[in-house]
Amino acid sequence: QSMAFGNMGDDCGTGVAFTRNPATGEKALFGEYLINAQGEDVVAGVRTPSPISKLHEEMPAVYEQFAAIADRLEKHYKDMQDMEFTIENGKLYMLQTRNGKRTAAAALKVAVDLVDEGMIDEKEAVCRVDPKQLDALLHPTFDAEALKKAQVVGKGLAASPGAACGRVVFTAEEAKEWHERGEKVILVRLETSPEDIEGMKAAQGILTVRGGMTSHAAVVARGMGKCCVSGCGDIKMDEENKKFELSGKTYREGDWISLNGSTGNIYDGAVPTTDAVIGGEFGRVMGWADQFRRLKVRTNADTPHDAAQARKFGAQGIGLCRTEHMFFNEDRIPAIRRMICSDTVEEREAALAVLEPMQQSDFEGIYEAMEGCPVTIRFLDPPLHEFVPTEEADIEKLASDMGKTVAEIKNIIAGLHEFNPMMGHRGCRLAVTYPEIAAMQTRAVIKAALNVSAETGCMITPHIMIPLVGEVKELKFVKDVVVKVADELIAAAGVDMKYQVGTMIEIPRAALTAGEIAKEAEFFSFGTNDLTQMTFGFSRDDAAKFLGAYYENKIYESDPFQHLDQIGVGKLVKMAAHDGRETRPDLGLGICGEHGGDPTSVEFCHNVGLDYVSCSPFRVPIARLAAAQAAIKKPRAK
Ligand code: PEP
Ligand code: MG
Repeated sequence: QSMAFGNMGDDCGTGVAFTRNPATGEKALFGEYLINAQGEDVVAGVRTPSPISKLHEEMPAVYEQFAAIADRLEKHYKDMQDMEFTIENGKLYMLQTRNGKRTAAAALKVAVDLVDEGMIDEKEAVCRVDPKQLDALLHPTFDAEALKKAQVVGKGLAASPGAACGRVVFTAEEAKEWHERGEKVILVRLETSPEDIEGMKAAQGILTVRGGMTSHAAVVARGMGKCCVSGCGDIKMDEENKKFELSGKTYREGDWISLNGSTGNIYDGAVPTTDAVIGGEFGRVMGWADQFRRLKVRTNADTPHDAAQARKFGAQGIGLCRTEHMFFNEDRIPAIRRMICSDTVEEREAALAVLEPMQQSDFEGIYEAMEGCPVTIRFLDPPLHEFVPTEEADIEKLASDMGKTVAEIKNIIAGLHEFNPMMGHRGCRLAVTYPEIAAMQTRAVIKAALNVSAETGCMITPHIMIPLVGEVKELKFVKDVVVKVADELIAAAGVDMKYQVGTMIEIPRAALTAGEIAKEAEFFSFGTNDLTQMTFGFSRDDAAKFLGAYYENKIYESDPFQHLDQIGVGKLVKMAAHDGRETRPDLGLGICGEHGGDPTSVEFCHNVGLDYVSCSPFRVPIARLAAAQAAIKKPRAK
């Protein structure tokens, strides 16, 4: 093919243009050109190109011809085109056309406009938007111009999307204080624990040295819809002197840094951000997605506030309410610590009596926020290392709350020490050793459901979920406690309230014996965070340290805590779903691990016939869209 020259005089030129604006989706030619130049001159940026509209004045005939070709190409490909052209001595040559890359906002607008223009149907429009792109729409993003100049100083895991910039602080207290003074802060921690919750709320973003995609910081930040970069092992932390080192630079308290929770990038200095703006097209595309999908989308929410947020994003219920998260707040954490550190039944019951009304009122708030949608409440599953106090002041406070000496509390804490808390005394193991905990939670759930049912006139069916089950007799033991308490309360209320008791499938043994477990469980929810941890034998909090080498050596393609490992963990899910339904054909099936908001994992859940996926509130739209795309790709009976 002969070369077309754009640099043979003033009746020549070259340019790049889109049929629609790739940033906003607006229907108008968008692009730029240079007179007497070749393509590389445009790319090199030595001369400043003119906007394409100016070509209309400079070469009206060429412009008209170009506009007509652009229109024809778009109608042919039925999508926004990104075209390159050259003008040689007044004659237009088209060099290339392809579907144009676009922002999330533009993807939605173009899809909706193409439907309105009769070019594509609604199904096609739903498939045109990449679910992952919605993150950029629902969270703040960096100012594009400022980002070009920003310097990347490190990279961690993209744990919770969005962009954030603020001044470095090292403790939750400082984050709160600085925030109250009107400062924007980034909370930098080795790892986070429930003690950091207030600081996480006050911060623009969270950066941790340790932790994976399902670690405390990642899960909690995602629930809050807050930017988080976790597991940046390159940071050399010096907490005592309030500084850290990264890429040869020392950052001290008050220094500015910026985080991109969607890529894991860490930037030096303040990169300005722009807030999320959700336009009307979002609602229309989501509405179409809802017509096509077969999977229901629920949310992982632990408070009435998060539940209400998730409802706004279209959640059809709560798939996981982590009841231990209800005690993360500063004023509540002492109560759960008292329970954990009790060493007699009397002490534990006294601590539980404080927890019960808090739980009941939270459950009432959640039931109200969810307006009759199903709510699955998971019984306590506190990995002890996340809850026992480590700071001297907290230990002293607990000692005085419990009427014990500091030495006694330290002794109890030492006795609670576990080498591997994630596989330790948590989940239903807690209820097996201390059935009074399950009894208290049952009272709180059933009383809340009775109260809200009476208030609203709409009878609630509570779903109680027992975590970390690996053996049917273990489930039966805890279920017996639940049933006894629930039946008595319901009988005393004199109403016809049904309830369900189900379990999480998050231990490989539970998946392997799912047929047996389904004899006692009315529903299964796949806890793929723990199921991944225990199937791979990778600690969910530590795996980030060595997974990098696995990607480099092409042993694994991606983080199994982010995208479900369909070959291994997926096989367990598939098998358990099948065996469970053999035993109990109407067994409810869902997923509540972090994979429930990951598009490829959602597609897998659709294909293996689950009823719903459950994910953090800000990921609900992503799951809705991914579920619709999966159903369009592979239709499945309702
Ligand atoms: C899971 O293990 O997948 C789960 C949802 O529970 P958690 O993350 O609270 O352990
Ligand atoms: Mg779990």
